[in-house]
Amino acid sequence: MSFKNIGLKEPILKALQQKGYTEPTPIQKLAIASIIQQKDVMAAAQTGTGKTACFTLPILEILSNAQENKNHHQLNALIVTPTRELASQVQDNIKSYGKNLSLKSIAIYGGVSDVNQKQAINNGVDIMVATPGRLLDLYHQKAINFSKIKILVLDEADQMLDMGFINDIKKIDKYLPKKRQNLMFTATFSDPFRSLVKQFSNDPIEISVAKDNETGKNIEHYCHPVDASNKAKLLIHLIKNEKWNQALVFTRTKHGANRLTKKLINAKITAVAIHSNKTQNYRTKALNKFKKNHIQILVATDVAARGIDIKNMNQVVNFDLPSVAKDYIHRIGRTGRAGKSGKAISFVCSDQQKLLRDIQKLLNQKLPMYTVEGFEPTSDMQPIKKSKKKKKFKKRFKK
Ligand code: AMP
Repeated sequence: MSFKNIGLKEPILKALQQKGYTEPTPIQKLAIASIIQQKDVMAAAQTGTGKTACFTLPILEILSNAQENKNHHQLNALIVTPTRELASQVQDNIKSYGKNLSLKSIAIYGGVSDVNQKQAINNGVDIMVATPGRLLDLYHQKAINFSKIKILVLDEADQMLDMGFINDIKKIDKYLPKKRQNLMFTATFSDPFRSLVKQFSNDPIEISVAKDNETGKNIEHYCHPVDASNKAKLLIHLIKNEKWNQALVFTRTKHGANRLTKKLINAKITAVAIHSNKTQNYRTKALNKFKKNHIQILVATDVAARGIDIKNMNQVVNFDLPSVAKDYIHRIGRTGRAGKSGKAISFVCSDQQKLLRDIQKLLNQKLPMYTVEGFEPTSDMQPIKKSKKKKKFKKRFKK
């Protein structure tokens, strides 16, 4: 099945061709045609599967067909995302897929002045991508008119629920026209997600391209047991010895992210930390530099890194294990995207065995443990597997 068979028009096909997309991904094959037919859809698809194009392409198709948009711009589609980075990334996709169309889009989110955002809305937009807080803020200021909205997308809906946005989402639902198309995307069909869907939609088409809690098959997962005091040194050792091009490193706290970044910089490794204490401008700039490969290591907390799409990222490191097992899946979703291979490396200290067990239970998979020579933990850890892989590692680190 090609993009043309799915029902996309020539200007969109041309943009896709220029991006080098040769055929739709599995979720795109399943979802795009139904969305163009204006059906409600709920889809379980992890980041990296091409899910953003799944809703942005049909939105461009539907809105560019609508007569009213040929003359003036009306807010017809609203996409709600959990984070600012994701909002901006989704809008980048819309701009690039819609570059041969005359539709206008905007990303609105907090942490930056709302003056330009209000001005742009005032000038007319067709598609808005927004985080819940700033969206409601501008709506309450009467800067946004929801009355012409025909399509609502909730992107990464389960994360929005995890982040406590349920009341904001309910408010948005109340303010929007009742008759509209609803598209709901989630990493997993969790119970809270299913109950949210019930409030929003009658009988949506259900699409899933990954089993619940399944992680990308092209990702190699393993752990390094290490003492907490040695973690930064181990990371520096791996970056240098394995000649990593780039890696995304997760820490549990903002201070931890800052501390680690300083140590990396002292070791002459280019690194930047992103977390909620950094200004939005700083976060955006850091992310762009990382995407352009001007920075080697991006150190992030969970919130800052949600949903971000980084091409050719081979390593994700859990410098600290996530305190909620489900976050492991979100974190490692940053590597092995769109069929590429990747590594998910977790540092495990002796007091984190329970967290590791929770993750393994969720993945239904035991993660192999490999000690790195010179970084053997001094405290008790679970028995370390002897495997070919371990030998290979030992050999590599001995060099
Ligand atoms: P997403 O899951 O939406 O974050 O997309 C993951 C990555 O896949 C992004 O970098 C997209 O640009 C890319 N992508 C989406 N659809 C396709 C496609 N049909 N062919 C090749 N790459 C794609």
